[in-house]
Amino acid sequence: MSRAKLLITAGPTFEPIDDVRYIGNRSSGQLGVCLAAAGHQAGWNVTLCLGPVYRSPPAGFPVLRFETTAELERLLELHFPPCDVLIMAAAVADFRPRRADTPKLTRSAGPMTIELEPTPDLVAACAARKRPDQRIVGFALEDPSVLATRAADKLRRKGLDAIVANPLETMGSGRIRAVLYTATGETLKPPTAGAIDKEAFARWLIAWLGKPAE
Ligand code: C5P
Repeated sequence: MSRAKLLITAGPTFEPIDDVRYIGNRSSGQLGVCLAAAGHQAGWNVTLCLGPVYRSPPAGFPVLRFETTAELERLLELHFPPCDVLIMAAAVADFRPRRADTPKLTRSAGPMTIELEPTPDLVAACAARKRPDQRIVGFALEDPSVLATRAADKLRRKGLDAIVANPLETMGSGRIRAVLYTATGETLKPPTAGAIDKEAFARWLIAWLGKPAE
């Protein structure tokens, strides 16, 4: 039998405004890349879906690139059904310009309004169709004052098995101070107190998944 499949998404999405401009976010994809490397090291059959970031991913497993939420949605349609665990670390846009097929906008057109529409919630859509033997871990990035309540709400609302609650300052930093909330009511933290390297956090989270089935 083939090794258990771990699907990881990482990095931002870029949502086109016109032919050259986009709405993006500051996600570096670093934690997702660390998770993919740690998963590969632990014996998982890893596939990484990586957004538009400039870092080069580690070798040793397939890396599928996406730019937009729509492209990531198509990758998940293909690669979620055969996976055993999905870790959804991508910083997917919550809104995108309604009209993306616009030629390059010019200043001479004067002031303008960009109409935004909500993106589909990709991880919630995966959770809605997941088999009982599949597990999904999501992420919540919030201001520390509301982190615990919002993460618990997302865990329930999106139908996840667990959620990594991340304070906002994690974005772009090499270190992380995160807590894992599970659907069974556990609150778990890495053994070292305070912020730890993303590599160390990734190894801890991968270990929490358990040994990959052969
Ligand atoms: O709702 P919020 O964006 O804070 O939720 C974060 C979690 O939901 C992350 O796991 C992210 O990858 C996922 N997400 C998604 N589709 C969206 C927005 C977020 O899958 N449109």
